[in-house]
Amino acid sequence: MKILVINAGSSSLKYQLIDMDGEVLLAKGLCERIGIDGKFTYKPLVEGKQKIDAVDVAMPTHAEAIQAVLDALVDPANGVVTSMDEIDAVGHRILHGGAKFTESCLVNDACIEAIRACIPLGPLHNPANLMGIEACTKCMPGKPQVAVFDTAFHMTMPPEAYIYAIPYEYYERDDVRRYGFHGTSHRYVSARCIDLLGNPAHSRIICCHLGNGSSLSACVDGKCVDTTMGLGPLAGVPMGTRCGDIDATIMEYLMGKYGYDIKTMMNILNKKSGVLGLSGVSSDFRDIEAAAQEGNKRARLALDKFYYEVRKDIGAYAAAMGGVDAIVFTAGVGENGGHDRAAICKGLEFLGVKIDPERNKVRGGENLISADDSAVKVFVIATNEELMIARDTKAIVEAL
Ligand code: AMP
Repeated sequence: MKILVINAGSSSLKYQLIDMDGEVLLAKGLCERIGIDGKFTYKPLVEGKQKIDAVDVAMPTHAEAIQAVLDALVDPANGVVTSMDEIDAVGHRILHGGAKFTESCLVNDACIEAIRACIPLGPLHNPANLMGIEACTKCMPGKPQVAVFDTAFHMTMPPEAYIYAIPYEYYERDDVRRYGFHGTSHRYVSARCIDLLGNPAHSRIICCHLGNGSSLSACVDGKCVDTTMGLGPLAGVPMGTRCGDIDATIMEYLMGKYGYDIKTMMNILNKKSGVLGLSGVSSDFRDIEAAAQEGNKRARLALDKFYYEVRKDIGAYAAAMGGVDAIVFTAGVGENGGHDRAAICKGLEFLGVKIDPERNKVRGGENLISADDSAVKVFVIATNEELMIARDTKAIVEAL
């Protein structure tokens, strides 16, 4: 069975074609500047096939983008399948499933309506995700599609973890609560970690998904009991450009002082904050680290703030779970930043965390980086959200 995995944004669309027999990635790529001047990238992973790198392709809407993907996949010279019939189903990454979706589901009218109903909770992403579904329906009529939600894995949180201490009516009437994101990644790496631990009867795992966007989750026996992101993906630890948790009073103060409207204020918190806002250098951790090494004090502060908040949340989650058996680092910074991992874990010795400096030199893969005498096992596990989406899609389509 071959599954096309789609992650549709407002002006971009990432795709992967995965052969589920052996879970082999056949091709991947990206449509950028949809609705602007369309750039198309295609990377086949089959011997002898040529890639296409950011070429101009007219993509006024997501439908032309999907068509460009299909044309490339079935191209007689450089395609990886002979016809569209070989693609059995499509799996979509959907940002917000509200409290309604606790697992992935087949795309049908009810599912589309429910995703639409979650637009107020995910105003930037859900409309784009729906455009991806509509484009596939248009270009591949009748092909089964599955929706996989970033929020679903977190729906096992207990009320004390997901409720905000504001008037209860906002929860009851308006669905204001913690939802959490990166759920597909947390689900993937926590399951891999349980495997690496030898499938114990009881496990308490803290997953640190640290990339451009970052979130932590606490997982007991494979189920999420808390996570750092909230109603939206702005909450939690500081990120590339997002502020993470702040005191809401800051908004009142700055909006009053500078006359910002809420849109301007949110733009500052989403796009101009985090390690970019603190360092003034970049949102990219590699740039910030280079600047810090050259003596840039604000770059140093940005990194220290990030490490401090991640470390603090690890401590909080150990308290929430009554202990911790394993910590997992994943995503761009978590998988590649040995320095960053070491800096985060410095000071966690009291919890029984002891990193082995030699083991910690690894990048990606699935690697133990804690010392043999560390009470808590620490792993680097490369995340694979697309594979998780493809697996869910396969399971749902096979059960039809
Ligand atoms: P992601 O959003 O998961 O793609 O992660 C992107 C982030 O990973 C960027 O901030 C990159 O700077 C960071 N990253 C990639 N490679 C490294 C590295 N070797 N060391 C530290 N951060 C890295």
